[in-house]
Amino acid sequence: MQTLSHPVVIGGGPVGLVLALSLQQSSVPVTVLEAQAPGAMYGDGRALALSYGTRQVLEQLGVWPMLEVAVTAIETIHVSQQKGFGRTVLKAHEHALPALGYVVSYGALMQALDARIERSSMGINIQYQSPVTGLDVHATAADIQYLRADGSLQQLSTPLAVIADGGRSLDEIPGLVRETKHYGHDALVGLVQTEQPHHNIAYERFTPRGPMALLPNGKQFSLVWTGEQSYIDEIAALDDAAFLQALHTAFGDRVGKFLHIGKRFKFPLKLSKLDRTFAAHCVVIGNAAQTMHPVAGQGFNVGIRDAVALAKNVASTEAGEWGAAHRLTEYHASRQRDTGRGLQFTDFLVNVFSNDLVGVGLLRGAGLGALSMLPMARRFLVNKMSYGS
Ligand SMILES: Cc1cc2nc3c(=O)[nH]c(=O)nc-3n(C[C@H](O)[C@H](O)[C@H](O)COP(=O)(O)OP(=O)(O)OC[C@H]3O[C@@H](n4cnc5c(N)ncnc54)[C@H](O)[C@@H]3O)c2cc1C
Repeated sequence: MQTLSHPVVIGGGPVGLVLALSLQQSSVPVTVLEAQAPGAMYGDGRALALSYGTRQVLEQLGVWPMLEVAVTAIETIHVSQQKGFGRTVLKAHEHALPALGYVVSYGALMQALDARIERSSMGINIQYQSPVTGLDVHATAADIQYLRADGSLQQLSTPLAVIADGGRSLDEIPGLVRETKHYGHDALVGLVQTEQPHHNIAYERFTPRGPMALLPNGKQFSLVWTGEQSYIDEIAALDDAAFLQALHTAFGDRVGKFLHIGKRFKFPLKLSKLDRTFAAHCVVIGNAAQTMHPVAGQGFNVGIRDAVALAKNVASTEAGEWGAAHRLTEYHASRQRDTGRGLQFTDFLVNVFSNDLVGVGLLRGAGLGALSMLPMARRFLVNKMSYGS
């Protein structure tokens, strides 16, 4: 067993790498164990809407200059409801913001983070193709088992294991209880070309089947189309012409005809959260700590705030106290409000607007017209997309 005296991050996805860079800025050495090979995620077609606060963090870490060429600013957000009269428009200048957010593909974000680390990797040791297979926590340290590319099983001990695996593999974390709600919905994503240019407008549309979004991305739109798994399977199997027609029917005429759809990707959607985000010498951040529906584009924006808060907590802790329960309790408490609100509000939006999930009758009974929710959605979106407050 190798004994390390610094933190180990399990998962070199966007949140794990932001944490590694934030620790580097505070001169805290870090080891990152990543399951996949370098560049494996560059083809991930999901588009992420980054908030202005996320941009500021990426600027401070020196990542933004590498990303700037790949991002598209959102200057207007148009929220509407299929088969309803609700509609609201948010404009950046009305809120004295340079933009309401920035769209970038997950792959481009990973490339920019990798490029930044390549430029200066001092203090960051990334081991690729090293999936973690087990974690034991005890009073003095966390013990991690992982596989090397050659198939050998390795073990190391650290004062602080940070789980940032996106909730993809380490489902059982010793001492922590996870609550998961499967929506039974999938998201289909892909790049679409439309007759009319996007003019930096992002469209969020609530349909009875589930929310859908068109995010301006380069010269095209990134489509996020959510709905019941069987429905998403159905539209995913359509040929391009039939798919574009179905999209037009669901989306309406706002951007003219849909001309071309690129490769389509599917993601299962769920809400998942932990009762507590830490155990002895172990803390959980990013999607591993909270997974939310992408309806309001919040997952990564919340995750990056986890990473920044944890880096501050670690940097202000004596090395001998890394992983100590009282310090991790402070970290956990500092993140409760932000993550709780993100989870609650995205879940609420999905339930209220997608009336096939709760039943229209139930909604009416509760007096919750989707239309009356629009001002709330508006306030939430502006707050979250600006500074995430
Ligand atoms: C369709 C869709 C649209 C979205 N849109 C937005 C949006 O607009 N805005 C937004 O902010 N968020 C959005 N999200 C959410 C966003 O993608 C996530 O919040 C973000 O990717 C979380 O980053 P992460 O690093 O925590 O996890 P991941 O991105 O899941 O990365 C986890 C990393 O850990 C590695 N790993 C897994 N298991 C192990 C292991 N055992 N050992 C070592 N490494 C391991 C993986 O290989 C991966 O590199 C969207 C999500 C979806 C599905």
